[in-house]
Amino acid sequence: MLKQLVDYHTHTTRCGHATGTMEAYVEAAIAAGLSEIGFSDHIPMYWLPEAKRDPGIAMRMSELEEYVADVIRLRERYREIPIRLGLEADFIPGREAELSRLLEPYPWDYVIGSVHFIGEWDFDNPAKTNRYAEWDISELYAKFFTLETMAAKSGLFDIMAHIDLIKKFGHKPSHDLGRVYADVAAQIAGAGVAIELSTAGRRKPVGEVYPNPLLLKECCDRGVPLIISSDAHSPQEVAWGFAEARALALATGYTQVCRFEGRKRIMQPL
Ligand code: ZN
Ligand code: FE
Ligand code: FE
Ligand code: ZN
Repeated sequence: MLKQLVDYHTHTTRCGHATGTMEAYVEAAIAAGLSEIGFSDHIPMYWLPEAKRDPGIAMRMSELEEYVADVIRLRERYREIPIRLGLEADFIPGREAELSRLLEPYPWDYVIGSVHFIGEWDFDNPAKTNRYAEWDISELYAKFFTLETMAAKSGLFDIMAHIDLIKKFGHKPSHDLGRVYADVAAQIAGAGVAIELSTAGRRKPVGEVYPNPLLLKECCDRGVPLIISSDAHSPQEVAWGFAEARALALATGYTQVCRFEGRKRIMQPL
């Protein structure tokens, strides 16, 4: 059933807010019948001074090397499923060169780009939701999508995660988002990156996949490549909701999904 699907968005305990051994994630992927699994733990918070890097958000800089080595080592143990080396990397405007330098030494199969911060504010943090009240939600969306499209166009990433993460806690502007979605999709298409259809949103207060099905449709119509992901923070979440996600992708018009090897995109039937 999930044969041609991969799950490339998974975390490990190094990020301080995920559970389960890396072996358990791989075994869950095998049990779900996925054709590949990839790890994409949160990048060390490279844009902050050492003392301000929250161990509950991401691994320490000193753990990056060991994370990479662990993924590579797992390939020896599980010959039955390809295990890809990835990373979920925060986009912080003005810090592109630092990010590029940090990524440079390692043999990534793919890098997932994420916008989790607006200025200092990690707006997806459940402990910081009071700050939504400081914003006009339309302006907040505009700010978020500006960062998201900048990230897509930066050339640093292969896949954009949760491209409408700003809706996570259910905040929605009162106006129709149709034109915003069309513009965002056009910019992402021009950037040549893939997007995730992430089932994680269904487990969050907003209760729907990322991106919204209308934004997904705009992306599909413009030929933006797709990958279905869980954003698993525990082994039980690997491939979570994939049957429904595949059905949505097919209904939207997608006939292919992608996978990556050494940062090269390969298309395969959905
Ligand atoms: Zn996380
Ligand atoms: Fe994320
Ligand atoms: Fe993630
Ligand atoms: Zn994520």
